[in-house]
Amino acid sequence: MITLPGLIDPHVHLRDPGQTHKEDFTTGTMAALAGGFTTILDMPNNAIPITTLDLLTSKEKIAKKKIVCDVGFYFGSLGDNLTEFKKVQNKVFGLKLFLNQTTGNYTINPDTFQKICAAWPKTTPILVHAEQDILEEAINIAHATNQRLHVCHIGSSELQIIINAKEKGLQVTCGVTPHHLFLTEKKVELLGAYGNVKPSFKSQKDVDFLWKNIDKIDLIESDHAPHTKEEKESGQPPFGFPGLETTLPLLLTAVHQKKLTIPDIKRLCHDKPAKIFDIKTDPQTYIEIDEQEEWTIKNENLLTKCAWSPFSGWKVKGKVKKVFLHGTKVFEDGKILVKPGFGNILKPV
Ligand SMILES: [Zn+2]
Repeated sequence: MITLPGLIDPHVHLRDPGQTHKEDFTTGTMAALAGGFTTILDMPNNAIPITTLDLLTSKEKIAKKKIVCDVGFYFGSLGDNLTEFKKVQNKVFGLKLFLNQTTGNYTINPDTFQKICAAWPKTTPILVHAEQDILEEAINIAHATNQRLHVCHIGSSELQIIINAKEKGLQVTCGVTPHHLFLTEKKVELLGAYGNVKPSFKSQKDVDFLWKNIDKIDLIESDHAPHTKEEKESGQPPFGFPGLETTLPLLLTAVHQKKLTIPDIKRLCHDKPAKIFDIKTDPQTYIEIDEQEEWTIKNENLLTKCAWSPFSGWKVKGKVKKVFLHGTKVFEDGKILVKPGFGNILKPV
């Protein structure tokens, strides 16, 4: 049995409010605890994006009654809500911007990005979905406006650009998703429409580059993005899939395969996310893992409302047995032990 601090996933989409047929604050945070995550940061691209203090306050109210782990929020912008920035700066962990196309119509151009960077308070980072075509420009704009930039769900091309930027001393961090570490464009063919995700999957060579440079990657983010099976099979499948319950078992399996170490997991899923997003940690929040238990990921055992995973059928080694949140046992042997509302809404330190 090994003990780790409660893990932090700084990139999830819990869909609540607005799309609670896919996931809601209760099922999403249950999935988090089952996966060993005690703190998650939720993205602002709800059905109605969170771009005003009023919308943020109402989302917090809904969440407070429903969550079973600790949850913090990000703010969103299309460049037309700059006067809201100061009102929310102490309430959110960062600002999420989309420079490339993904779910929803939230893409902004570099001019708007520059305007937003000039206006966002320097207290918390700006997170971007920015792929290789636009990333260098984004890093330069963030640098010129003295903003901390976090680049979400990178591939090998983005990682190379970030390594170069870090070598120049620029303030940029990056995260990789487990699916981009464990799946390739070839493997994902078997998943059909279920494998539709942004950024899209790359070759084995690209994946090997990520593993080879894992020490240059700041953190792991699931980009937990649940959609129903019906939506995935609709002929126009939306991008993304759930990840909160599969991240840690996949990483623990990689430890057995000598691709990773337990201290790597602690750095990537706790220490660095806490540092980058100014999250207060608590020694009474921790998880117990049986690192030898072998089991198979199965759709029917998942707590996420969408009830499927691209990793269903995968044999993994290492299982979360118990989770403690601020001293209270909240999860044991597959069961959530607390009622909705037990979790806390977090604010940056
Ligand atoms: Zn995302």
